Amino acid sequence: MLYIKCPYCGMRSQNEFAYGGDANVKRPELNEEVSDKIWDEFVYLRKSPRGKHIELWHHISGCRQWFKVQRDTTTHEIFRTAAINEDIK
Ligand SMILES: [Zn+2]
Repeated sequence: MLYIKCPYCGMRSQNEFAYGGDANVKRPELNEEVSDKIWDEFVYLRKSPRGKHIELWHHISGCRQWFKVQRDTTTHEIFRTAAINEDIK
């Protein structure tokens, strides 16, 4: 069982959370021309990194907040969690 520390609620079981994808994906700027290729890459293409990775998680059975998790995708070790507006390096 994986345990995740929600920045707002504390340590909870993984069952309370939903994975939200790569936290490093940047949405194309608003009010600018965006090619179909760039939009297609933003919507559909994701990397599948091995090792340390920053992800979005949603505390669906708790505070319902989105936050960031720095996790190793091979060992599932969680190094850090942070609010959505904080930077994780
Ligand atoms: Zn929470």
